[in-house]
Amino acid sequence: MPRKKEPKPAPVRLEPVALPTKKCCICGKEFVGFGNDPWPLSEKRTDVCCDDCNYEKVIPARMKAIADDPGQDSYERARRSWDERPDQQSGPVQ
Ligand SMILES: [Zn+2]
Repeated sequence: MPRKKEPKPAPVRLEPVALPTKKCCICGKEFVGFGNDPWPLSEKRTDVCCDDCNYEKVIPARMKAIADDPGQDSYERARRSWDERPDQQSGPVQ
């Protein structure tokens, strides 16, 4: 008895994700992607920075910030206080 042909499942295709264009808060360059957290060079929650600035400026600054405060959880503490900043509620004007 011939086997009934199963319909082939649609091939899984990875759709390219539409990446946003953002502006680096450090060098002002526009870049495609989600950007990087510029902390501690910028404490504005909406700020992002490009990969170049992230590697060249943000990460060294972050290392220094941690080195200056060798508490074990200094980074976590800093992040938490950043996340709890009051400008969290401001957002776009309705
Ligand atoms: Zn940049």
